[in-house]
Amino acid sequence: MNRIYVDNAATTKMSRKAVKAMLPYLEERYGNPSSLHTAGQLAAEALFNARREIAERLGADVKEIYFTSGGSESDNQALISAAEAGARKGKKHIISQKTEHHAILNTLKKLEKQGFEITLLDVDGEGSITAEQVRSAIRGDTALVTTMTANNEIGTLYPIKEIAEVCRAKGVLFHTDAVQAVGHIPLDVHEIGCDMLSLSAHKFHGPKGVGALYVRNGLMPSCIIEGGAQERGRRAGTENIAGICSMAAALNEAATAIPEDTPKLTAMRDRLIAGLSEIPHSVLNGSTTNRLPGNVNMCFEGIEGESLLLLLDAKGICASSGSACTSGSLDPSHVLLAIGRPHEVAHGSLRLTLSSENTPDEVEFIIRSVKEVVEYLRNMSPIWQELQEGKRNYVIQ
Ligand SMILES: *Cc1c(COP(=O)(O)O)cnc(C)c1O
Repeated sequence: MNRIYVDNAATTKMSRKAVKAMLPYLEERYGNPSSLHTAGQLAAEALFNARREIAERLGADVKEIYFTSGGSESDNQALISAAEAGARKGKKHIISQKTEHHAILNTLKKLEKQGFEITLLDVDGEGSITAEQVRSAIRGDTALVTTMTANNEIGTLYPIKEIAEVCRAKGVLFHTDAVQAVGHIPLDVHEIGCDMLSLSAHKFHGPKGVGALYVRNGLMPSCIIEGGAQERGRRAGTENIAGICSMAAALNEAATAIPEDTPKLTAMRDRLIAGLSEIPHSVLNGSTTNRLPGNVNMCFEGIEGESLLLLLDAKGICASSGSACTSGSLDPSHVLLAIGRPHEVAHGSLRLTLSSENTPDEVEFIIRSVKEVVEYLRNMSPIWQELQEGKRNYVIQ
């Protein structure tokens, strides 16, 4: 059976170019960039070139890019760096918002235990916040504001330029988790005006286990992995040269394709939203327009998300109910709760995240399949019976 992969927010398939870019550093050029011999120096040169390419793509300077093991590590390092810099000046307040990824939320919880005060801003019905909310929350002892660029579950885009401007005016550091955005929408660190930005290769058709943190010149990231002097002494460990070179190739390819891919993805996204909205008692999560080009997230009343996913999988459709990190637990998505969906509705969610490999034919097949499966599950559901008989009220009209 032909599998249809529509879970690109969880991870993406590596592109041919990204795979090819790895191979020389696995086979012939396996030297350690810290070694002084020729083999080592070839690796060091490749590392420098990859850093320069990634910096150029983000509008950054080559000295502002630190390689990490992925988005989670970049987020941890960014938050810990800002917290430690703040603490040195007696600033122990951090501002974020409720729909962040757990790499942010759990790091904030840890910092809270260490004596930091955390403000998590409420989001609106589409999952966004305003720069004005950030301005009102900033205090004299605020060390950092961190808000994602785009949400990994519902695709909502945040007004990061405006937030960065507020932060700059108030002299507060600003970090953005851009893991879902890099390679998908145009981004430039100077245009944004952020102090730090996280990215991860496997979200834009690069390999898993490699990412980067942009840190503005003049700021010194804290070292969270101690050891050798790699990454200018800020992140120890022999560099993942193959992964880093592959990430550079993947970013070049993804960023170049944005103008061509965006209209195609947006058209497929909007067709999915229109088709699935024909299902009675369904609702779109997030905004119709202010969202990532490839993201669709809907709730269907009277449905259990996990059953929906399993039946779609049986039809060859790889989808998700939200974040890959919360699946496996029975807790409903913190993002859907934050935008005001009640628990029982939040359990019936479906996230479809497209790549340019998906086709309009696949989109039509997905719409037909979801309609069939939702109807099948509702017919078996006692709760749905009660809703139909008027013994219960619909939450989604
Ligand atoms: C995937 C993701 C991460 C984590 O990245 P990893 O490379 O998997 O550690 C962090 N933030 C967001 C928004 C993500 O989508």
